[in-house]
Amino acid sequence: MDIEDLAQRVAKGERRALARAITLVESARADHREQAAALLDALPKDRQALRIGLSGTPGVGKSTFIESFGMMLTGAGKRVAVLAVDPSSSRSGGSILGDKTRMDRLSRDPGAFIRPSPSQSHLGGVGRRSREAVALCEAAGFDLILIETVGVGQSETVVSEMADIFVLLLAPAGGDELQGVKRGIMEIADLIVVNKADGDLRAAAKRTCADYAGALRLLRKRPQDPEGFPKAMTVSALEDDGLREVWDTIGTLVDWRRENGHWDKTRTGQARFWFEQEVRRSLLAVLETARARELLAEYGGRVAAGDCVAAAAAQAFLERLDKDAASN
Ligand code: GDP
Repeated sequence: MDIEDLAQRVAKGERRALARAITLVESARADHREQAAALLDALPKDRQALRIGLSGTPGVGKSTFIESFGMMLTGAGKRVAVLAVDPSSSRSGGSILGDKTRMDRLSRDPGAFIRPSPSQSHLGGVGRRSREAVALCEAAGFDLILIETVGVGQSETVVSEMADIFVLLLAPAGGDELQGVKRGIMEIADLIVVNKADGDLRAAAKRTCADYAGALRLLRKRPQDPEGFPKAMTVSALEDDGLREVWDTIGTLVDWRRENGHWDKTRTGQARFWFEQEVRRSLLAVLETARARELLAEYGGRVAAGDCVAAAAAQAFLERLDKDAASN
C-alpha cells in the first residue's frame, strides 16, 4: 500500500481514500498498525473540525437527530462526518449505524460522510480506532464530526476524550424520574437535548427539560463553562424544530471556550491522554510477545511451587525482560 499517496488523497478529501484509511486504522494486524501510524503522521496537522460527541440510549432519536442536524448543516455548506463508537460489540441485530436504512437522506448527501461503527473488540480498542478515524476526518477537511455512542457509561467517557462538545440526547420521561442518567454522564455533558418535543409528547419534553435544567444547576461549576452552561433544551428532530437553536448554542459555547483558552487546553489535554493510552497499550503488548510468555510461565512456575513470592518474581521477571530487550 502506498501510504504517501493515500495520505495525499485523504488530505484532498477523497471519500474512497478516507473510507480505506479508516479501514486501515481499524485493523488490528501488526503491519496495518504500522502503516496506520505512518499514515496518521503523514497527514496535515493544521486542520481542526468541530468534534461533537452525541450519546443517548437506543430509541431516543439519535439517528433522526443526526440526520436532521446534519442536513441542516450540509445545507449551510458545511461538510459533516458521522462516526460511531459502539462498545457493545456483542449486541445482535446490527450495531449503531450498521443499518443502511438509518440516515438515508444524509447518507446520500454529497456534503456528508457516514461511517458505521467498527464491529469488533473491546472498549479500549474501539476508543483508539474511533479517535484515529476522527483524526482522519479532520485531516480530510470536514468542518464537523459527529461521534455517536450508545449510552452505556464507559463509552461516553471515551467519546468525551475525543470531542470538543458533548451532547446528551434524551427522550421525554413518563414520570418525574431523571431516567437513571448517571451523574458521571451529567458531569461531562455540555448540552442536554430532550428530543421528541412535538405532538402529545411536547409537554412531557418541556417538563423533562426543566427537571434536567434544575439538576444541572446543582452540579459544581466547571471552569470550561460560561454562565448558564451546561444547558438543557428541547428539540423535535422529526419536525426539524429547535435544531438551529442547538447549533447556535454550541456556537456560543465554542466561541467562549476559544476566547478563554479552554478550547486549546482541552485539545492538548486530550492529545496527552491518547499518547499515554498508546504507551500503556504498547507496554501491555510487550507481555504478549513469545519471550514474555516464556518468562511468565517460568516465573509463574516458581511462584506456584512456592520457591519465590509474587512481588520478587515479578521484579525478577521485569529485569530479565529488560535485559533481553537491551541485548537485542
Ligand atoms: P436511535 O435509536 O436513538 O437512533 O433512535 P431513532 O432515531 O431510530 O428513533 C427512534 C424512534 O423515535 C423512531 O421511531 C423515530 O421516528 C422516533 N423519533 C425520533 N425523533 C423523534 C422526534 O423528534 N419526535 C417524535 N415524536 N419521534 C421521534
